[in-house]
Amino acid sequence: MPTVYKSPAAYVQGRGVTAEIGDHAASLGETALLIADGMVLDLVEDDVRDSLEDAGIEASSAEFNGESSEDEIARLAETTAEREADIVIGAGGGKALDTAKAVREQAGGAMVSMPTVASTDAPTSALSVIYSEHGEFQEYWFYADHPDLVLVDTEIVATAPARFFRSGIADGLATWFEADATYQSHGDNVVGGKPTRAGHSLARLCYETLCDHGLSALDAVDSDVVTESVEAVTEANTLLSGLGFESGGLAAAHSIHNGLTQLEATHDATHGEKVNIGTITQLVLEGRDDEFIEEYITFSLDLGLPVTLEEIGLDDPDRSDLDIVAKAACDDEETIHNQPFDVTPPVVRDALVTVDEAGHRVRRS
Ligand SMILES: [Zn+2]
Repeated sequence: MPTVYKSPAAYVQGRGVTAEIGDHAASLGETALLIADGMVLDLVEDDVRDSLEDAGIEASSAEFNGESSEDEIARLAETTAEREADIVIGAGGGKALDTAKAVREQAGGAMVSMPTVASTDAPTSALSVIYSEHGEFQEYWFYADHPDLVLVDTEIVATAPARFFRSGIADGLATWFEADATYQSHGDNVVGGKPTRAGHSLARLCYETLCDHGLSALDAVDSDVVTESVEAVTEANTLLSGLGFESGGLAAAHSIHNGLTQLEATHDATHGEKVNIGTITQLVLEGRDDEFIEEYITFSLDLGLPVTLEEIGLDDPDRSDLDIVAKAACDDEETIHNQPFDVTPPVVRDALVTVDEAGHRVRRS
């Protein structure tokens, strides 16, 4: 199998870039449909529509109901066809963007991804995570085409609740460990090939950027302001993490996240919060030394990220609950098999038990 690297055609990030969307989207089509939930529409709709109309693009909007499910995608694809839109713009968090990508796949045309939070690596990728109406992970849908444009307004990202920014950091930290595991095992990446050196290096840069700027960026975002660290971390959470996971590959951390979504009690924890438990579990699976695992847990605590099962909604889970998580994480289709060793459900369950103990211990110390 060849090495493959793919990415969106354009990435634009900066203060106030929402009001410039028309300049960057002008070549993509003539009629745009903006898909976002009610809150995000209140935040961006006027600026987006004004800028598009100034650039000669007709614009309308449709409200997203909050779940990237098959039914919701079909409903919005129908709206896109009715309005004869040839540019689908998704604005919001990961689920809104994943929905908009799926809608573009069904309706055709161009796709613009406008994350309003730096919480996941959904904005740049050519896939959607599909959930049931009740929020359980179901499957990934993969597309031939990436978004044509990713536009990130750091003023909006910085004023979103800091929890989203934190979660994005967790998702970005996982990128390096997963891409490195895939590289070591010569596993498959997410764009249909073996990892390129480029994908692997971008994942490492993502990790280094978050280690260097994560805490100071959170200081700024906690006060709703934008600094150079916020720019650096927004790029890491969005571009580097997105390219790193797709072209570098996923491994255990995201499979464990997917397994955790099987338990309803975890549904109030964000994607990144669950991924962080997945990352620590991956480090335990890999048999990393105590010092490294403790350092990672301490950094997580400094960032305000969960390090115990309780913090993602699992107060005192019994073994059978963790067996459900472990079994789902080890499904044949899961990326956990990109780890450079055999992974089985009992091994994952025992690692989860250990993570919980280690998290409590480091927190006490
Ligand atoms: Zn993720």
